[in-house]
Amino acid sequence: MIAIDTEKLISWFLEHKRVLPGRDITDPYPIWISEIMAQQTRMETIKPYYERFLKELPTIESLATVEETKLLKLWEGLGYYSRVRNLQAAAKVIMEKYQGTFPKTYADTIHLKGIGEYTAGAILSRAYGLPYASVDGNVLRVLTRFEASPIDISRNSTKKYYKEELEKLNPSHFGLLNEALMEIGAMICRPKIAKCNSCPLRERCKAYEQNNIGLYPVKSKKVKITIHEYTCFFLVDQNKKIYFEYKEENILRGLYAPYFVEDSISEVDVYSYLDKKHIETDYVIALQEQKHVFTHQIWYMKGYLVYLKDNKQDIEKFYTQEEIKNKISISTCFRKFFKEIENYLNDEENSSHHV
Ligand code: SF4
Repeated sequence: MIAIDTEKLISWFLEHKRVLPGRDITDPYPIWISEIMAQQTRMETIKPYYERFLKELPTIESLATVEETKLLKLWEGLGYYSRVRNLQAAAKVIMEKYQGTFPKTYADTIHLKGIGEYTAGAILSRAYGLPYASVDGNVLRVLTRFEASPIDISRNSTKKYYKEELEKLNPSHFGLLNEALMEIGAMICRPKIAKCNSCPLRERCKAYEQNNIGLYPVKSKKVKITIHEYTCFFLVDQNKKIYFEYKEENILRGLYAPYFVEDSISEVDVYSYLDKKHIETDYVIALQEQKHVFTHQIWYMKGYLVYLKDNKQDIEKFYTQEEIKNKISISTCFRKFFKEIENYLNDEENSSHHV
């Protein structure tokens, strides 16, 4: 059995824990929301999103019934929109099958959309004190260092192994044990720097004892990242509205995007390209190039602000700056161009910046 002194660890946590979304509460709904938001995003970063989300959708019922456009808008900036769609799908099941109360068993919880072993353990242990461990990459780093174990943490079986090992322990509160291990991973036993002198696990930590912390964790699998080049055309009509279209597939599913192509079109070629596409152009302004990193993709993006000759295009797809800000959901990758675009649109003298 893993030799953690659970009570010492929990005491340390109660004394040193940060104030974070989803902490110090036992209502499973906000814990669930905070856990889903924190996937791929740092806990500190999600705070304003978390507060706004719960203010607008304070109950599972309100989440189950909210319109998709509003739901996606509340998620804007967090990315990975399938997470919020899954949240709503799960909320509907909770309304239908469990009368609006978050399930109290592991079997029922794990069947909800978007909830895996880690999240199920986190919610059930913290809301109901149930004896389930939540093990993620941070916790694996702490535990493999603690045991000086060369076990490969990229294998699924390793997570399963440590989950079972932790569940053999008998802490005074399982939720606090889970949170304490997470906090050690986030604040003390960091990937590059381990602050062993401040660590409550130090006494029994094998990597510390053997002075070989740098050897752990062992990780073999490398995720393949692909690199893409895009050119984005922000088409502006004579009322200074911008064209956006709704995307139904791939990474941008459910979001709005400007007209864009997977190609790097230079300033020299931009007019002839637009001409070829029958986009009648008055003039074009080149924007600062942008880079956006998704989980498995990096996008390098050129951007052009394209002033159209007339308003003959599909008029319904043009949006005001106000609508772009508050109504439609747009991926952060495109929003990176907005500050500059706003400056140009609000600057009547912009004609001097033409390509
Ligand atoms: S003593 Fe050091 S290496 Fe061991 S768990 Fe604590 S911070 Fe990590």
